[in-house]
Amino acid sequence: MAALIAAAALTAAGCSRQGDAHVLFKGATPRTSAVKDTRTFEFQCPVCKMSIEPDTPRCPDRNCGAIITWPQSVTCSYCSGSGVCPACWWMGQSDGDCYNCQGRGVILPAVGSRPCPNCNGGQKCPICGGTRKCDSCEGTRRLDMSKLKERFAKRKGGGADPESRKEEAPPQENPE
Ligand SMILES: [Zn+2]
Ligand SMILES: [Zn+2]
Ligand SMILES: [Zn+2]
Ligand SMILES: [Zn+2]
Repeated sequence: MAALIAAAALTAAGCSRQGDAHVLFKGATPRTSAVKDTRTFEFQCPVCKMSIEPDTPRCPDRNCGAIITWPQSVTCSYCSGSGVCPACWWMGQSDGDCYNCQGRGVILPAVGSRPCPNCNGGQKCPICGGTRKCDSCEGTRRLDMSKLKERFAKRKGGGADPESRKEEAPPQENPE
């Protein structure tokens, strides 16, 4: 009997609570080499915005239970779907040249040839290397969902196969 009621509730609720998995992007593309890259993301239920694991077919929140579909790709939010390097855009690097040294690679060449601290002498935007393409989506304006899932799995430290993940891996020693 309970199963019957549950099944009826499913069909009744199914029509409104559904949608593509939402990817919440946090942080921003660094504008200069001095800014730390804090970009990260998480997957969310499109209806209640609860944090979910990749490929969750249904929102685990009992009151929500939304049917979640997983699109092949999502719009890159770091460049707002423009494909343009956000650092170049912010710093006015219209030709991809480093803003700090105007593409010279050195600061105050009259005084001495100290390499520019932003491009380290490379003369180009340190984020895109002068291509003016967003480094997140490589200028394609879209982010591949399968790559996002891969990165998500790696970040959790569970290795390549999420199925075999039985417990949380210990935090990795990071010498940086
Ligand atoms: Zn939900
Ligand atoms: Zn750039
Ligand atoms: Zn420079
Ligand atoms: Zn982008």
